[in-house]
Amino acid sequence: MRTYCSDVEERNVNKYGVNELRKMFLDFFESKGHLVMKSFSLVPHNDNSLLLINSGMAPLKPYFTGQEIPPRKRVTTCQKCIRTGDIENIGKTDRHGTFFEMLGNFSFGDYFKHEAIAWCWEFLTEVVGLEADRLYPSVYLDDDEAFDIWNKEIGIPAERIFRFGKEDNFWEHGSGPCGPCSEVYYDRGEKYGCGKPGCTVGCECDRYIEVWNNVFTQFDNDGHGNYTDLSQKNIDTGMGLERLAAVVQDVESIFDVDTIQALRNRVCELAGKTYKEKHEWDVSIRIVTDHIRSATFMISDGIMPSNEGRGYVLRRIIRRAARHGRLLGIEGDFLANLSSTVIEGSKDGYPELEEKKDFIFNVLTQEESKFNKTIDQGLNILAEMEENMEKEGRTQLSGEDAFRLYDTYGFPLDLTMEILEEKNLTIDEEGFQAAMKEQKEKARKARKVTNYMGADVTVYESIDPAITSEFVGYDKLSWESGVTAMTTEEAVVDALTDGESGTIIVAQTPFYGTMGGQCGDTGVIRCGDGEFVVQDTIHLAGGKIGHIGRMTSGMIKLGDKVELSVNPAGRADTCKNHSATHLLQKALRTVLGSHVEQAGSYVDAHRLRFDFSHFSAMTPEELAKVEQIVNDEINAHLPVRTSVMTLEDAKKTGAMALFGEKYGDSVRVVQMGDFSTELCGGTHVANTGDIAVFKILSESGVAAGVRRIEALTGPGVFAYYKELEDRLSEAAKIVKATPANLAEKLTHLMAEVKQLSSENESLKSKAARESLGNVMDQVKEIKGVKLLAAKADGADMNGLRDLGDQLKEKLGEGVVVLASEKDGKVNLVAMATDSAMAQGAHAGNLIKGIAALVGGGGGGRPNMAQAGGKNPAGIPQAIAEVEKVLEGQLK
Ligand SMILES: [Zn+2]
Ligand SMILES: [Zn+2]
Repeated sequence: MRTYCSDVEERNVNKYGVNELRKMFLDFFESKGHLVMKSFSLVPHNDNSLLLINSGMAPLKPYFTGQEIPPRKRVTTCQKCIRTGDIENIGKTDRHGTFFEMLGNFSFGDYFKHEAIAWCWEFLTEVVGLEADRLYPSVYLDDDEAFDIWNKEIGIPAERIFRFGKEDNFWEHGSGPCGPCSEVYYDRGEKYGCGKPGCTVGCECDRYIEVWNNVFTQFDNDGHGNYTDLSQKNIDTGMGLERLAAVVQDVESIFDVDTIQALRNRVCELAGKTYKEKHEWDVSIRIVTDHIRSATFMISDGIMPSNEGRGYVLRRIIRRAARHGRLLGIEGDFLANLSSTVIEGSKDGYPELEEKKDFIFNVLTQEESKFNKTIDQGLNILAEMEENMEKEGRTQLSGEDAFRLYDTYGFPLDLTMEILEEKNLTIDEEGFQAAMKEQKEKARKARKVTNYMGADVTVYESIDPAITSEFVGYDKLSWESGVTAMTTEEAVVDALTDGESGTIIVAQTPFYGTMGGQCGDTGVIRCGDGEFVVQDTIHLAGGKIGHIGRMTSGMIKLGDKVELSVNPAGRADTCKNHSATHLLQKALRTVLGSHVEQAGSYVDAHRLRFDFSHFSAMTPEELAKVEQIVNDEINAHLPVRTSVMTLEDAKKTGAMALFGEKYGDSVRVVQMGDFSTELCGGTHVANTGDIAVFKILSESGVAAGVRRIEALTGPGVFAYYKELEDRLSEAAKIVKATPANLAEKLTHLMAEVKQLSSENESLKSKAARESLGNVMDQVKEIKGVKLLAAKADGADMNGLRDLGDQLKEKLGEGVVVLASEKDGKVNLVAMATDSAMAQGAHAGNLIKGIAALVGGGGGGRPNMAQAGGKNPAGIPQAIAEVEKVLEGQLK
């Protein structure tokens, strides 16, 4: 228990600087078993819910939610943060800025309230030396546990501990983990107070300020206000570094602490103005001072000014700073100059600022000049617009006008708004958004332009044509080189950052770009903690090789020395497939003849495709022979040699060149033992033995005289057989057999099926016969010709014909007509014997005469005819009609 002194004495605190305080904090928590982690990038990693990191806890979210395992259960950071939520108010007062650093100590299911509170107190009072009697803790209303720790363990009298409600002291963000907070307030003395009675902790004035916030994450909110205890309780704390410095240095605001004051003084010096002389100037001085800090740090994390997302936030910040610099009377470009003061003051904690200095200055100056070129013109246009508004008695600028200023003169909406606000005018924001949407729509439609070659115009055409790349990857899979150009999907840029997709171009690359039928390499490009995953590599116009992919962390910028690493497994498999096409071509010429020429090919890590001239389908024997030859050459372990020579010399080696292909003066010749020699720029195995095995999947025709073979090598073959094996096992399982006795089992099954179906047929005709009853009773004589016309239920056409044949035999001579209904349809069959036909009977015409009655049609030969119909209800009438029709036929 510490002794407590109630008299407020003269301050006797060491006036530590910002950089000292940062180090003291991190060192202190390191001594308490915490892992000191570097500030995370301002660009959130894998988190689309956030534009910019805005708290120490934000980048650690995956550790709190359990998505990722933290490197240690105790972590401490000093995190750079940006908040632009109320950017309009920044500068108007000196309370806050857009950029700040947040100190924090975190426990992921490790220590909890006792330690967090004790260490917070120890750091503030013993390490920094703040007087205990100026500090006031607060706890959440119901948090007796925290109250008792402050009261009994730390020894703060109960009346100095404040209990606040949910609004102030409970951290919650929708459903999920949440918990009470305990804050520590510092009494800065009467000179900062409002002097009102009841001015104490919680008062809106500047006397009591919150320096530290401890969040005790101990509950889970189900989203309906039901709180359950979390199994893993976490500690998440935050303390604004600049605010701590303001307290320790006993200065009025964060704009007066050592590092920021140096920057503020530099602004005043450039402007020839004095701080605290005129409120209007102070506002501009604070805006420039704050915004240049944000801009410097954002650019150092690879954010580039643009019209979207965080790029737009940066653009607003830079243009706002530039305008307020002009309001202060600063002439020309000045942001890079100020940025150097930011870097000087912060490089202690952020050495990367110094490393990226030139890049940062460059981006700032480019954006500033762009804005300066149009700002005067824009301001004139805006003045005209204001005049018109006045004439028409309007106080609101139309959305279209605001959009014109944005689109043509680069005035971010909030800038126009701010200028107008100074004159009590407003903007139709909805109209602005509508105009913006309309323009985006237009732009999307316009993007489908084509150039004079008929190809789509791409961002690549904006790259400096002097830039070229060299491929160095025949025998290397990793290489270091400088970035010479980079693009997003829409524009040439100076940097790519976490989450962005784009293309990187370097001077020398081990990545093979898609060419000659061989697919481009995949892999990864790294620089520091910047990582770019290469999904494809392609050749661009003008001898450039483009690595297409996505930044998965950090940033990479123009001029960076990067480490390029090709995915080795992907490259190895592609080489196997490519080398196999060379063996295949030679094998085809050997088996089919020398008319075989390559007509095209495609090779990637998974398969190969080879098109060639040949005039008929290959026989199974020819295919087997070709496959055998290729596998023999693989087994012969032929060395693969490549050499570059003149085309003349290459021809002397007997190299196979592509018909109609143009070659340069020097060509690359790929030889596989004495078996194959080809001109080829692709990548290959060192020895044919590396291919392991070759398997043809299919042979087919793709055009007149062009055949295509698809095949696999190495691991692809094993994957193919594995799949076949799986399918075979599955099939065997269905018929309760094993792959080994599957054929035998299927033979038995097929015999059984055949027997069953013939049994079924005879049963069906037996049933049909039985349904006729004693049919011979129904035989009639028409003009001396016997007629049997009857209905046989359930018989299909085949059954009906069978039955007809049997009855005809029984009848000896005469005419048989049968009708059946099956599945709602009608079948009709008519048959006439020779003697009946001699008397004029005609089965075909007979059917024709009655089919209409069952809703059908049909006909046939004189001796036999059949028909179908859709109306079973007409059967009795059709049968009755037979007599009449036959009577008409007979002589
Ligand atoms: Zn007050
Ligand atoms: Zn080749």
